[in-house]
Amino acid sequence: MTQDILTICYLIASITFILGLKMLSNPASARKGNSVAALGMSIAILGTIFLYKNDETGEYLNNYAWIFGGLIIGGIIGTLAAKKVQMTAMPEMVSLFNGMGGACAALISLVEFNHLAAETTVVISHSKVLIIVVGLIIGSVSFAGSMIAWGKLNGRVKDLSFKGQNILNLLVLALALVLGAYLVMQPHHSLLLYVILLLSLLYGIFFVLPIGGADMPVVISLLNSFTGVAAACGGFLYNNKVMLTGGILVGAAGTLLTILMCKAMNRSLKNVLIGSFGGNNTAVSSGATSQGHYKEISLSDTAMVMSYASKVMIVPGYGLAVAQAQHSCHELEKILTEKGVEVRYAIHPVAGRMPGHMNVLLAEADVNYEKLLEMEQANEEFSTTDVVLILGANDVVNPAAKTDPASPIYGMPILDVELAKTVIVNKRSMKPGYAGIENELFFKPKTSMLFGDAKKVLQDLCAEIKNT
Ligand code: NDP
Repeated sequence: MTQDILTICYLIASITFILGLKMLSNPASARKGNSVAALGMSIAILGTIFLYKNDETGEYLNNYAWIFGGLIIGGIIGTLAAKKVQMTAMPEMVSLFNGMGGACAALISLVEFNHLAAETTVVISHSKVLIIVVGLIIGSVSFAGSMIAWGKLNGRVKDLSFKGQNILNLLVLALALVLGAYLVMQPHHSLLLYVILLLSLLYGIFFVLPIGGADMPVVISLLNSFTGVAAACGGFLYNNKVMLTGGILVGAAGTLLTILMCKAMNRSLKNVLIGSFGGNNTAVSSGATSQGHYKEISLSDTAMVMSYASKVMIVPGYGLAVAQAQHSCHELEKILTEKGVEVRYAIHPVAGRMPGHMNVLLAEADVNYEKLLEMEQANEEFSTTDVVLILGANDVVNPAAKTDPASPIYGMPILDVELAKTVIVNKRSMKPGYAGIENELFFKPKTSMLFGDAKKVLQDLCAEIKNT
């Protein structure tokens, strides 16, 4: 009876995971989706703690002190970290949490192998060892890689690459796989498991070390899918359906996200992993003014132009996130709207440094979702827009993506801001963005540069417009 109730708990949990994922795809329902999936996960965890019965021994779980001790400590750390984290540090936190998932999967493999090895009376099942080895390799790679990604994003770990690194990485991985296959055939060589663990950790470290810091979101998404697969291995091992479903969903979602991010940047995964741009995102391309002269606009002129416009489109980018200017941006939108100006936001799918970065940022500032236009919608509206205000965005509005086949971003879909009557670009200097390339948009006759930190500029602009 209790096992039937547990099966129903798992079924409910699996359904909530799928519903939660579906709801996450829309900003309006995302928060609810997260809660729905979390509720399902709680049902699955509590169901397992109180209802799970070991088939062989017939015993229920009884080590409550360890279980609840871990849950409480982990819960407190997770809650504090999530409450404290800045929006710009979200990829770091995702990476850290993902690493913990990978570590759990690897630990499960270690523990279960020792359990198997201890059962000397039974013949060790090769298929079980196979699942253990796969979970160990993928989980350890995900853990070590995520830790390096976390270190890179917060600046503690620097890029490191040397000649022949890719070949060395492949050799380390191949050795781990060959030893893994050997262990599956000869499960009594238990020491090999620790050699495989070490090689997998090394591979995780060396695989992520040379990748440019700015490419980390793609790598994190890939590692996230690895963790999902490793967790699914745990599901196989324990014959636990909800762990299997959860792992597969994470694995599939992570893989899809990785593919979508690469597509939106018009780059192949291989190009991201072996790295051709992104590592050097602070480099100034040859001569900031090599394309000619750019025009500057004053704050008071900007206030004037925007106040008398009938339609304004705001294009947020990475710089807005860095400056934490989302609240000031919303303030500007409200002031303009009060003056009768129609204000919309044009959201590029890879603006910022993580998927949905701009949506999350603007949601934090309570911007109405209906004001956010996706790239395709926005591109249809630029020709009827009076003023485009670009806030800390660069690559996502760079026309070279359409006009220059030699450009590293050639083929990446962009926001066609040039179709608007006037373009005002706010950034701090003429330095390039993530792709490290110059932007010809800044030198066009209809473009004016409004230099300064996005938050400060927006605060001053709001004050100026109020006085206009
Ligand atoms: P970019 O990185 O192209 O440009 C950001 C601009 O913001 C810079 O040129 C910088 O110029 C400016 N900036 C920085 N700080 C401030 C500040 N405090 N105030 C005002 N401006 C500031 O950003 P985009 O959003 O246009 O493009 C995103 C890029 O990231 C794309 O190339 C995309 O492929 C890539 N990417 C996105 C991922 C995602 O999932 N979203 C994942 C991985 C990569 P200055 O220094 O002069 O101020």
